Amino acid sequence: MQDLDIQKLTSIVGQQNITQNPTDLLIYATDAAQIKGRALAVIWPKTTGEITQIIAYANKKDIQITPRGAGTSLTAGAVPQNSIILDLSKMDKITQETSDTITVEAGTILDDLNTHLRQKDKYFPVIPSSDTVATIGGMLATNAAGTRAIKYGKTSDWTEEIEIVTGKGDIIKTKDINEFASTEGILCIITKATLKTTSLPEQTSITTYEFSTAEELVEKVKQLKKDKSIAAIEYIGPFTSSMQDETPKYHLLIEYENNTGTHKTTEEIEKAWKQRKGLGTVLSAAGYPKIEDPKIPEKNIAAFLNWLKDQNIPNFGHIGYGIIHCRIKPDHDLNEFYRQVKNHNGQVSGEHGIGLTKKQYIPQTLKDELKKKKQKYDPKNILNRGKMI
Ligand SMILES: Cc1cc2nc3c(=O)[nH]c(=O)nc-3n(C[C@H](O)[C@H](O)[C@H](O)COP(=O)(O)OP(=O)(O)OC[C@H]3O[C@@H](n4cnc5c(N)ncnc54)[C@H](O)[C@@H]3O)c2cc1C
Repeated sequence: MQDLDIQKLTSIVGQQNITQNPTDLLIYATDAAQIKGRALAVIWPKTTGEITQIIAYANKKDIQITPRGAGTSLTAGAVPQNSIILDLSKMDKITQETSDTITVEAGTILDDLNTHLRQKDKYFPVIPSSDTVATIGGMLATNAAGTRAIKYGKTSDWTEEIEIVTGKGDIIKTKDINEFASTEGILCIITKATLKTTSLPEQTSITTYEFSTAEELVEKVKQLKKDKSIAAIEYIGPFTSSMQDETPKYHLLIEYENNTGTHKTTEEIEKAWKQRKGLGTVLSAAGYPKIEDPKIPEKNIAAFLNWLKDQNIPNFGHIGYGIIHCRIKPDHDLNEFYRQVKNHNGQVSGEHGIGLTKKQYIPQTLKDELKKKKQKYDPKNILNRGKMI
């Protein structure tokens, strides 16, 4: 790898949009996964044209690039490995709007987008819990989901068109979102997206249940999934509930987009969600800072939950969508965990992606598919080298 030609890069983006300040490099050396890498420089491009020039330079000099949105990756996807960080956060403009779509630059923060849309009684309904900072580019690159995935699916389901710059430097506009969603910045930089929007629900309400066994819980979830007015089916496991001073049972929370639920006032709804949303802090403080997100087929969920119970692994999650969030101690050996995910026919990740931390657990077929795409779009392997594959 050659030394960085900072003068050349500065001539592309301007002095105020590039840094090699040691403090900046230290901050950008990690993301929410808290694994440390090494950044050579941080660059904030402002246009697609600047990105193509940076990519041309990187190809010529064999310099690696790590794309970054807000750095909320829980799998070290945005951790640099002797690479330039390309931080998209200054590309955050709304460029076009119709009654049911909105086109934004990739660095747009979801919460800012929804604040804008709410003025028109509209919103973008795929909302990960990181929505106050997560960017549309990062959400597409990981194909983020969230608590309402049972009704609204993933980010790609609500994306009509994307503009990308491939690792070869080609600018492509495409409606084939699935070719690039979930590829975590290893094929292209997503620069723009046309997103579908929908009307805000007129009313929401919540019902909660408690169950003693995983089998009873899953049976109820199966019934509830038939009701199309339900937007979220979330559960908290018994061990996790006990850490919140709740009865050590399975707690189920159902959000309806009408007034079917028993909790109807804003205060009641906020109180019900508070217990679910405050879990991260409680579990980290209790010594379980790491989070896994396997997706398990409905028929195997009860068996998987019983295995987690035997192992004392606290869990909760988007059970209606099959995503079981498991909180793990720092020294926990994950090999047996992922053997169990495989034995229960589960996927390694339901929403957080693969990044660096899960790449040894993904199936060979997926690796082969990604390698083929890598050869097609980024043959010199300058984008997010070493991630996913
Ligand atoms: C507290 C917390 C809660 C979370 N909750 C959820 C949740 O409910 N659901 C969920 O799905 N995820 C969740 N996540 C994971 C993460 O927030 C999401 O995956 C989010 O979509 C990442 O957005 P970001 O802008 O932070 O991307 P980053 O973390 O910056 O990047 C994520 C990956 O995408 C790549 N990337 C970023 N921008 C681009 C781009 N423009 N072009 C190409 N590649 C790019 C990066 O290289 C990296 O591999 C959570 C994370 C945290 C810390």
